[in-house]
Amino acid sequence: AKAEGRGSFRFFDDSLTAGARHRIEMETRLRRAIEADELELHYQPQVDVTSGRMIGAEALVRWRDGDRGLVPPDAFIPVAEQTGMIAALGDWVLREACRQGREWHDAGLPVPRLAVNVSARQLQDESLVDRVRAVLDETGYPPDRLELELTESALMHQQERSVRVLRALRRLGLHLAIDDFGTGYSSLAYLRQFPIDVLKIDKRFVDDLADNNDDREIAGAILAMGHALRLSVLAEGVETEAQLAFLRANGCDSYQGYLFSPPLPPAGFARLLAD
Ligand code: C2E
Ligand code: CA
Ligand code: CA
Ligand code: CA
Repeated sequence: AKAEGRGSFRFFDDSLTAGARHRIEMETRLRRAIEADELELHYQPQVDVTSGRMIGAEALVRWRDGDRGLVPPDAFIPVAEQTGMIAALGDWVLREACRQGREWHDAGLPVPRLAVNVSARQLQDESLVDRVRAVLDETGYPPDRLELELTESALMHQQERSVRVLRALRRLGLHLAIDDFGTGYSSLAYLRQFPIDVLKIDKRFVDDLADNNDDREIAGAILAMGHALRLSVLAEGVETEAQLAFLRANGCDSYQGYLFSPPLPPAGFARLLAD
């Protein structure tokens, strides 16, 4: 029976494409990683352009894998989204950020607002609002110190549903940000229906701000549009003083990037808070 089982498994396996095999293997490893507590969050400061003070931090997930070291999210988030594992992973990220924030707060550290990424798949899940509420209750983390980052493309997918879910999240007291803005062709009319607080200008428009006139025009237009809607605008991926100078001159509210700090492991971020 054993040999037969193995044989039929091989048949099944051979019939799969390499991509499908990779997904199944990753799904198994990722599930074990969550159970074995191998995921960790790093925190990247978000800085007020005018005062230079830290006003928030984005939580970014990493996987500490025995064989591969620290695996970046681009290597496993897409698989997690395809397989549905993102629900468990997203719950873990949310809970961990709130737990950590609460712990820092209890230790007397001035915790800035923590931003957590929410994938398109999570947003489509009817239970998202209940899950967020449960995590807030469980951790005692204050809702107004939590921001959820939703990508522009995720919101465009099911607009009416998205508006309903966002309103419910807002009623809980959360802040909401649109991530990777500028990549999804949103119009002003479209944007204004969403109850959001922050627009995050995608890194690709920030990269060449110092010398590409098109990117300067685009960034300038996003800033004007965001401000017309009374939103706060944050630029991501800021690496140079020249980029920051342009953003400051154009009224950008806040930024995030290697210029101030890369994402830091919890201990390093706590040291920054303590300074
Ligand atoms: P994102 O949400 O756009 O996050 C910003 C990414 O830019 C992060 O990459 C960050 O480390 C990187 N970054 C920040 N400043 C700079 C800079 O100055 N220069 C450069 N070159 N890069 C910079 P990371 O941590 O590898 O995350 C990649 C993507 O993975 C994220 O893009 C997000 O889409 C996804 N992701 C990360 N954590 C989570 C999570 O907990 N849940 C979900 N659903 N997605 C996540
Ligand atoms: Ca993000
Ligand atoms: Ca982003
Ligand atoms: Ca991005």
